[in-house]
Amino acid sequence: MNGPRFVPLTCPNCGGNLFGRAADVVACCLPCRSAWLVDGAEPRTQRVLTVDLQPADTAGAPLALPFWASPAVAIPAFESARPLSLARAVSRVLGSWPARPGLPDPPPLGTRIAPAAAGRIARLAGLPDANGPWTLLVVPARLAGTRLRIAGLDGLPCYAEDVSEASALLARLAERKTPTAAR
Ligand SMILES: [Zn+2]
Repeated sequence: MNGPRFVPLTCPNCGGNLFGRAADVVACCLPCRSAWLVDGAEPRTQRVLTVDLQPADTAGAPLALPFWASPAVAIPAFESARPLSLARAVSRVLGSWPARPGLPDPPPLGTRIAPAAAGRIARLAGLPDANGPWTLLVVPARLAGTRLRIAGLDGLPCYAEDVSEASALLARLAERKTPTAAR
């Protein structure tokens, strides 16, 4: 299977096309700004909180990174070269981050890790046990060349490979304004 394969689902809320790929466990509806867990037979509504911060350095293209969050821990929900370090760094500051309900623009893409796996990753990272329920926590970021800047983590050097699919995600964000790209 080559190239992007879009999730052939419509939004149960508004009938709009859900934005996501077959490998994603969360698909977003851009018209009504809802998020859906699509790892089962039917889409299930997914609670979303967006961190109300921006990276201090605003160079580069905006991205929105999905994490699975429970009160004490946040686990990267995207494919990453170092998920455990990112989980520890975000979990450390999570309690001080302002957040509001709802999907941001750009929407979070590339949610590949199922919420059922988040508790296992928390244990691997030496974080407190967490069993959910998991909220999809969206963290604004900027990708400038090889540097990744994550809102609220300005002291942590991050790189493009921290988001394995970073360039593919940016390409998908560019495609969302071109309906014919859904091939
Ligand atoms: Zn919708």
